[in-house]
Amino acid sequence: MENKKIAIIGAGPAGITAAYELSKRGYSVELYEASDRVGGLSKSLDLWNQRVDLGPHRFFSQDTKVNAVWLEVVGKDYKMVDRLTRIYFNKKFYYYPLKPFDALVKLGIWKGFLCGMSYFKQKIAPTRKDGSFENWVTNRFGYKLFSIFFKTYSEKLWGISCKELDEDFAAQRIKKLSLFGAIWSALFKSKGTKHKTLVDQFAYPLEGSGMVYERMQTKIEENGSKVFCSTPINKVITENGTAVALELENGERKEFDHIISSMPITRLVNNLNDTPKEVLDACAELKFRNTILVFLKVEGQDIFPDNWLYIHANDLKMGRITNFSNWVPELNRGEKSTIIALEYWAFNEDQIWNDDDEKIIDLGKEEMRATGLIGDLEITEGKVVRIPKCYPVYRMGYQEPLKKVEAHLSSIQNLSVIGRYGAFKYNNQDHSILMGLLAAENISENKNHDLWEINTDYENYQEKSTITAAGLEQKD
Ligand SMILES: Cc1cc2nc3c(=O)[nH]c(=O)nc-3n(C[C@H](O)[C@H](O)[C@H](O)COP(=O)(O)OP(=O)(O)OC[C@H]3O[C@@H](n4cnc5c(N)ncnc54)[C@H](O)[C@@H]3O)c2cc1C
Repeated sequence: MENKKIAIIGAGPAGITAAYELSKRGYSVELYEASDRVGGLSKSLDLWNQRVDLGPHRFFSQDTKVNAVWLEVVGKDYKMVDRLTRIYFNKKFYYYPLKPFDALVKLGIWKGFLCGMSYFKQKIAPTRKDGSFENWVTNRFGYKLFSIFFKTYSEKLWGISCKELDEDFAAQRIKKLSLFGAIWSALFKSKGTKHKTLVDQFAYPLEGSGMVYERMQTKIEENGSKVFCSTPINKVITENGTAVALELENGERKEFDHIISSMPITRLVNNLNDTPKEVLDACAELKFRNTILVFLKVEGQDIFPDNWLYIHANDLKMGRITNFSNWVPELNRGEKSTIIALEYWAFNEDQIWNDDDEKIIDLGKEEMRATGLIGDLEITEGKVVRIPKCYPVYRMGYQEPLKKVEAHLSSIQNLSVIGRYGAFKYNNQDHSILMGLLAAENISENKNHDLWEINTDYENYQEKSTITAAGLEQKD
């Protein structure tokens, strides 16, 4: 078995974890990465003598397998970070996760009353289920709270109306949030007695989220396997329904026994030979949303306390702000300035995606000032990073075309499909790491994990744990 030659496309968390695991088990792996470094969306960069991620990257998992591999790679080189995140709306900052009394005070008694009334109205006479995000959230929290705390942000992020957004997004990301739960915890768990959950704290590598994947690269190479950066794959070549080779962008063909792909599912399918028209048509219905990151260097320290903020304000185009100085001090490297990152979301045809960098930086500076968060501190540098295909868009009805594409890809022997844009799943790092681990088990242990089943609501763990300052803490 170990003589099998494996190719992996994409060195993001999914692909590189698969490579790491397989190389540990003696397989000969070749990992192909289009960009100049590993880590995918979870990479870290050196910028203005500091370290930054591509926006906020909080690692969190309850799956022992995922946590164990993370700790195996990171060792003791992490710190627990106290999470502070707020929502900026109507010139006020609301704690997020929402704290009912903080929200009430900031909304004012009248709006708070309207939110309560709209919540009870919904409980007494729920709106008929229609499968949309708007319907799901409204039925759970009432329309008023939906319109204040969910609508603007979600529409900025996804670029479509919440009526067109599938409830899967809510079901996967906010299903455990309940209004009563939040009120109960605010009333009966006072600050002093409140047990610090890992939602309040998270483990973060001293050199940024990308450190995990850079270390995996070193181990893979030490194990005798190969990582090729700046080497995009053009296509997977199949013969008689079996994946047999890769074609590099320079046209070179390389033969393998098994191929794991985490490249965009749309590119994978469009470039396969003999794909039936109905699969190509289905694939054309899968859309992605892009991200534009604007990094700004602000001449000051301790400028605001949040790790990141959600910008719900309608009059601002940005959706999120990250302050890297509030993650671990090591990122700041003793500099006197602070690097922040603003996120803008766009489709390819949107004006902002096609604007030049200078214009986007100016917009970022202007919007940052408008929040009041940096006062009149000087902004001395700006840099734009564009990330295409950052978010798989869960438009209502997306499951049907996705199922067709999944069925076709599953029918191809010796091909495994994993990852966020690789499998069209709204993954966090932990889900992509898990996909990589399970893809490796399928090959090395002849297991039959259904990789398409792994979603952000995946909870089928054999063992539950969390990472604490002391290491892995088992849970019941
Ligand atoms: C702004 C932002 C904030 C986020 N916040 C968090 C967070 O707080 N917590 C969290 O856990 N996760 C977060 N995530 C999600 C996390 O970044 C992703 O879930 C994770 O990186 C996905 O890993 P992946 O390997 O599936 O895909 P990716 O990270 O997208 O990696 C795919 C890799 O494939 C490569 N590739 C593409 N095409 C080719 C090709 N043709 N040939 C070769 N290589 C190719 C790409 O260059 C890339 O390196 C965030 C993401 C973003 C964008």
